[in-house]
Amino acid sequence: MRALALFAAATLLTSCQLQQSAALGTTGQRQPNIVILFADDLGYGDLGSYGHPNIRTPNIDQLAREGQRWTDFYVAAPVCSPSRGALLTGKLPVRTGLYGQRIRVMFPGEELGIPEPETTLAEALGAEGYRSAIIGKWHLGDAPGAYPTRHGFDYWYGLPYSNDMDWADSTSFDELLAMRARGGAEAIAGVMAARSGRYAEPKVEYWNVPLLESSGSGERVVERPAHQPTLTRRYTEQAVAFVQRNADRPFLLYMPYTMPHTPIFASSDFQGRSLGKRYGDVIEEIDWSVGQVRAALERAGVAEHTLVIFTSDNGPWLSMRHHGGSAGLLNNGKGTTFEGGMRVPAVFWWPGTITPEVVSGIGSTMDLFATSLSLAGAQPVSGIDGLDLTSVLKGTGESPRSEIAYYRAGELQALRRGDFKVQLVAEGAYGLPPERQVLETPRLYDLREDPGERHDVAARHPERMEEMLDAVARHRARTRIASPLFDARLARFAR
Ligand code: MG
Repeated sequence: MRALALFAAATLLTSCQLQQSAALGTTGQRQPNIVILFADDLGYGDLGSYGHPNIRTPNIDQLAREGQRWTDFYVAAPVCSPSRGALLTGKLPVRTGLYGQRIRVMFPGEELGIPEPETTLAEALGAEGYRSAIIGKWHLGDAPGAYPTRHGFDYWYGLPYSNDMDWADSTSFDELLAMRARGGAEAIAGVMAARSGRYAEPKVEYWNVPLLESSGSGERVVERPAHQPTLTRRYTEQAVAFVQRNADRPFLLYMPYTMPHTPIFASSDFQGRSLGKRYGDVIEEIDWSVGQVRAALERAGVAEHTLVIFTSDNGPWLSMRHHGGSAGLLNNGKGTTFEGGMRVPAVFWWPGTITPEVVSGIGSTMDLFATSLSLAGAQPVSGIDGLDLTSVLKGTGESPRSEIAYYRAGELQALRRGDFKVQLVAEGAYGLPPERQVLETPRLYDLREDPGERHDVAARHPERMEEMLDAVARHRARTRIASPLFDARLARFAR
């Protein structure tokens, strides 16, 4: 009996040692798991911890209380595909070409994906011994050759693009482009009008979006159309299973939720539960999901070796009215380079490493690339726009980031440097004001005293304005603009 116990203890020890050595990087430090929980179109004001009065998000709020809640955290683009491309490459979309001037995100039937020379976060961490999964929406190319499993991810369960693409009304995106090339504005308006009413009372069958599963052993369509009310729940089950399967080695779990991008759906357990009505139900289910992922990390005994980040890919889709979220006190929303389009909630949690704090330094989703590599013990990558935030997470220094470049469709519309933001172009999105205006006299905002961009202080700070315009010139001089890949599709319909 004793021999058996000794044998069991020895086996356990060996397996622990193996686990530990598997998780040690080149620096000899244990490589932390990286979990990126990435909501879609969730606004700056949509969480309890960011001031929402009705939507209850106790799990995310708890992470925020126990970890770092960032107040000045940004995405690199105000819409889905370029924002995701930037997170996964650590580069501005204009540098990789993962943007469009006329087609702003990828649509079903896209032939392109992430350009081959680019290194994704999954590839970079894979080279350091990480296993990786994406559970959720990809939106960087729906041809099999562009799947996440061709770009470093070991496993994918989710949608290839947004849940409102791929309409079951039989007019494809290419047909719309062909109609436009023929000058058929009226016909397009007819299709769009019929569709717009469907967002308010969505039904699963209005769309034909596939739910896919992909790994080294192949691909399969799990169902089509994806049953959207249960997506958040099923993503969560997949994420929990992935954590359980990989407790013995470092992993990257990238979880881009399909929700709360419209059409919004919650599972039956969450329908009608939130004071925030339907949109609130959807956010509260995401919050539940975050709690489940946390519990899985704790159950697997890896929470103290895991950096969890919760954030969003862009601001709220305001034209969706009560089915869209809120940017809180920030100005405007998705699609724009106002603060409401690009500043997002960001919570960093890492028990035992991150001490509770509200961080007012500037950060970007592009920084998650550089930070993850640094934590994994990889060599710093040159030629990226992301910066290493490790010192902030470990409480040993301030954020190295002083600037945010606000691009829309490849155009630099604003630049933040320190407390100030210079605005060069003002433009609403999705039919909402303001109408596009290239500002002859750029505007200046002090985002510390005026995060809502309500008071132009250019006249009060002429020297500051000069400094800001110099910073714009320097940014332009050092940023090589790649051609917009998403627009390549228009060549198919050139008249
Ligand atoms: Mg989005």
